[in-house]
Amino acid sequence: MQRSLAFLVLVCVQVLLLGIASDAAGANAADASNAPAAQAENHAAPVQVVFLGTGTPAPDPDTQGPANMVVVDGKPYIVDAGTGVVRQTQAAYRVGISIRPAQLDIAFITHLHSDHTLGLADLILTPWVMHRTMPLELYGPEGTKAMAEDLLRAYRQDIHIRLTGGEGANATGYKVDAHDIQPGVIYQDDKVKVTAFKVKHGTWPEALGYRFDADGKSIVFSGDTRPTESVVQACHGCDVLVHEAYVGDSKDAWMVYMRKFHTSASELGEIAARAKPKLLVVTHEGYVDGTSEADMLADIRKSFKGEVKIAHDLDVVTP
Ligand SMILES: [Zn+2]
Ligand SMILES: [Zn+2]
Repeated sequence: MQRSLAFLVLVCVQVLLLGIASDAAGANAADASNAPAAQAENHAAPVQVVFLGTGTPAPDPDTQGPANMVVVDGKPYIVDAGTGVVRQTQAAYRVGISIRPAQLDIAFITHLHSDHTLGLADLILTPWVMHRTMPLELYGPEGTKAMAEDLLRAYRQDIHIRLTGGEGANATGYKVDAHDIQPGVIYQDDKVKVTAFKVKHGTWPEALGYRFDADGKSIVFSGDTRPTESVVQACHGCDVLVHEAYVGDSKDAWMVYMRKFHTSASELGEIAARAKPKLLVVTHEGYVDGTSEADMLADIRKSFKGEVKIAHDLDVVTP
């Protein structure tokens, strides 16, 4: 892990320098999307997990909405589409992730809470504006397909003008191939296998976690959930477990909701101790009543003795 981090820093510096040069040369966004990938990126690890947004519904300007990107052999797979998902992909490019917004053509949604889906219109439309020609392939719980259809309807005037008003947009890239899925293997290509599993997110009838198997590595996303056995089973010694958590307590009525819908840091420690990931990454972090990352780590480490990392926006993990 240390060695890959050091390598990433080196790559970042090189890419940053190349990025500055290409930004100066190309004033418009279309040029930027077509810029050649920096050479250093060809040596990137075959599997990367990029934390595009690690925030909560709170509009904290330092964290974007929940969104992750698994990059396998240069192909991006998005997990959740929180606020800022596409812009953060562009931000990730600047720190060495060789993915352009126009390449975003597949996404997996854990559940339909707004913080996980506010960026869905962005994910449908912006990559198309940046010349994506493939429809967005979209997977999620029941209601995902309806949400995609509703968004396309909401943006019909924009789509009409871009297609017929002289902008010359292509006729395919705004479309969505949406699937309401059930637990099990829900997607497979020559790079990844994606398995969905049910989690328990309060009163939501359906909320999902996802396990990615790629290049001999396994990455599990809990989605939003209270402590759930299915996460332990899905991980079962996985390389990376990405799990939500909050830390702290209060007498506020809101804590009743938190306990029913989410996982405390102490509970996450217990889950991780049984799931045994090689690396536990905490994201979508909730800090109650002035608690800190140190409090979060301390509570997790009461039960889990393995490696733990608290994710920040644009962090990259290479399993
Ligand atoms: Zn939620
Ligand atoms: Zn959430």
